[in-house]
Amino acid sequence: MKLILLGAPGAGKGTVAKLLTKLDGSVQISTGDILRAAVAAGSELGKQAEAAMKAGDLVSDELIMGIMGERLKEDDCKKGYLLDGFPRTIPQAEALKKLLADMGEKLDMAVDIQVAKDVILDRLTTRRTCTDCGAIYNVKSNPTKEEGKCDKCGGPVVQRDDETEEAISNRLDVYNKQTAPLADFYKKEGMLVAVNATSSDAVIDAIKAKLAS
Ligand code: AMP
Repeated sequence: MKLILLGAPGAGKGTVAKLLTKLDGSVQISTGDILRAAVAAGSELGKQAEAAMKAGDLVSDELIMGIMGERLKEDDCKKGYLLDGFPRTIPQAEALKKLLADMGEKLDMAVDIQVAKDVILDRLTTRRTCTDCGAIYNVKSNPTKEEGKCDKCGGPVVQRDDETEEAISNRLDVYNKQTAPLADFYKKEGMLVAVNATSSDAVIDAIKAKLAS
């Protein structure tokens, strides 16, 4: 399947994407994960992205399209892909449309995962992430067995730099201003599926039902 996962930070895009990869071998592509890996590696890309990421601002559309233009052409995308955290602005959505048209590809749908703001805030402040494999935990609802150590790979599980209260509040503002308008964009494209996300399983079921219809 070829999907875009829309939704505020903390809506569960990454969790849903990871579950969907198990259904048909589609690959999860998270621009946030790609950028975090670049920052950790200290690469040129990482240096260009670091300050904006830490403040909870978006990195430039040019930088993101440079990454995605390459990434979508890799072999593992042939089975399908789940775009998690991309596109995030109207110019990115326009550029993606052109890129896919040039590649002769078509997306199945854009899923807007809708979660109440208080739930999002609570989730973001209690979320912890493995810096090695990207596994996501939650200190309240899904803690690691051993504190600070990933159950899956043993890597360090920490609070992300952009999950301070200030950065979270900025990320939500940025989301409302720059990313929320994408729902309308994809509605006009006839591709939008809005799901009220009571649980990640509910989102998966809605996607399966739509794919089968
Ligand atoms: P995420 O893990 O998706 O919340 O992304 C973390 C941070 O990476 C964001 O707050 C942005 O600074 C940056 N980022 C990720 N994806 C994008 C994108 N598509 N466009 C611009 N910035 C992005």
